[in-house]
Amino acid sequence: MASNSGNGTGADRPVVTRFAPSPTGFLHIGNARTGLFSWLYARHFGGKALLRIEDTDKARSTQEAIDVILEGLDWLGLEFDGEPVYQSQRADRHAEVANKLLAAGRAYKCFATPEELAQMREEQRAAKKPMRYDGRWRDRDPSEAPEGAPFTVRIKTETRGDTVIEDAVQGTVKVKNEEIDDFILLRADGTPTYMLAVVVDDMDMGCTHIIRGDDHLNNAFRQLQVIKAMQGVEDGWDEPTYAHIPLIHGNDGAKLSKRHGALGVRDYRAMGILPETLFNYLLRLGWGHGDQEEFTREEAIEYFDLTGVNKGPSRFDMKKLLNMNGNYIRAADDARLARLAAELIGPQADVALLTEAMPVLKTRARDMNELAEGAAFLFKQRPLEMTEKAAELLDEEARQHLAQISARLSSESDWTIEPLEANLKAYAEELDLGLGKLAQPLRAALTGQTTSPGIFDVLVLLGREESLARIDAQAAG
Ligand code: GLU
Repeated sequence: MASNSGNGTGADRPVVTRFAPSPTGFLHIGNARTGLFSWLYARHFGGKALLRIEDTDKARSTQEAIDVILEGLDWLGLEFDGEPVYQSQRADRHAEVANKLLAAGRAYKCFATPEELAQMREEQRAAKKPMRYDGRWRDRDPSEAPEGAPFTVRIKTETRGDTVIEDAVQGTVKVKNEEIDDFILLRADGTPTYMLAVVVDDMDMGCTHIIRGDDHLNNAFRQLQVIKAMQGVEDGWDEPTYAHIPLIHGNDGAKLSKRHGALGVRDYRAMGILPETLFNYLLRLGWGHGDQEEFTREEAIEYFDLTGVNKGPSRFDMKKLLNMNGNYIRAADDARLARLAAELIGPQADVALLTEAMPVLKTRARDMNELAEGAAFLFKQRPLEMTEKAAELLDEEARQHLAQISARLSSESDWTIEPLEANLKAYAEELDLGLGKLAQPLRAALTGQTTSPGIFDVLVLLGREESLARIDAQAAG
C-alpha cells in the first residue's frame, strides 16, 4: 500500500475522505468528478471513502433528489463505505458544538436585530468598506440585551495574523484573519448554519482529506476557525488536508452551465454513454498521468493522487467524450452490450441474436442509442416500414434488380459473407454497374433504412429465409 506522507497534516492517520453532495434533483457531472476523486484517493491509500448527503435544505432535499445521487454513484461504480450520513439528522450535534464553543468563550451570543444588521451593512456600503459583521456583541455582556431577546451564536474568530492553508491542489493560500468576520454558527431559531454543519460532520466522520470544488475554498478558511477553536474543547479536531479542485468549464472556456448541454450524470446515461466511459472521462478531466488517455478502474486506483490534479480549470469536450465512448463500446463485452441494446429496442429484441450481431454492430457506434438504432432492423416485422429516403431508393429499376438478386441468392447454398459477396459482385459486373448501385436498394429492402452495417453482414445476420422474404417483399413481381 502506498504511503500518504507528504500530503500535509494527518500524514500518519489512515486516509478518510468524504463526498458531500447536496440533493438538488440531479448529480452534476462536476460533483460526480469530485466524488470520483474523493473515492479514488481513499481507495488508492486503502482508506475509507465516506458519503454524506447534505440535506439541510428541506425544500430541495426530497427522497427523489437523494435517490438521483445514489443511483448516479451506483451507476458509476462508486461504492462508498458504510451507510451515508444524513446531515439533517445531526442538527443536535451541530448545536452541541456551538454550545460548547459558547461555554468555552470561543463563541458568543449576538443580539443584533436584522434591522440593525441591515443598517450596519448599509453604512459599510456607503463608506465603501468591506461588508462584514463588525463584532458589536463580541465583548458585550449578554445582560445588556433586553430580557428574552432572540440571539444568534457567532464564532469568535482570530483577529490577528493569517489563516494559511497548504492546499494539496492550490498550493499555499492564505487569508488575513481580520477579513474573516464572526460568522453565525446557530441561527436565532437554534438551527445550525451550513458552515457549522459541514465542519462538525467532517470532524465527526474523521475525515483526513477534504477534496471538493474550489468554489468552497473560501469556506475552508472559516471552517478552520471552528476547528481551531474546538481543539481546546474536544479531542479529534485535527486539521484535515484540503484539496480544492478547479471547476469544469465548457469548450468555450466559460464555466460549465446548461447552455453547454447536459449537466447531469443521468443525462449522459440517457445519451447512451457507458459508465466506464464517464468514469474515465471525468478522471481525465482535471487529472493526468503522463499521456495515458484510458485507464481501467484498477489503474485509476493505482495511479490516482492529488499531485496529478491540474491547477487550472478543465474543459468539457463532448466530441472527445463520444469518441472515447466508441472505444469503450468496442472494448465492451458483447453479451452485456446486447442486454443494454435490447432494453433500448424493446420487447421484440432477442438478446441472443444481438449478441451474435454485436461484433458487427458495435464497430461504428459512438453511443448506445446509435447502436440500438443500428440493430433495430434485425427485429422489424414484414412488411418493413421504410424511411422516406429508403422508399425513394426503391424505384422501378431498383425493384427489377431486387427480383434478379433474389433469384440469384436463393440458389446460394453457403449463406456466408464471401459467397454472397462474390455472387452480388458477379451480377454487378454483368450489368456493368458499381456494387453500390445494387447495395443501396438491397439495404433499403433488408433494413427499411439507408444506413446499416455492411450489406453482407446484414444478409448473414438476418439469415437466408428472412433476407429473401424481405427482398421479395420489395421486388418487382
Ligand atoms: N454540499 C456541498 C456541495 O454540494 C459540498 C460541501 C463540501 O464539500 O464541503 O457543493
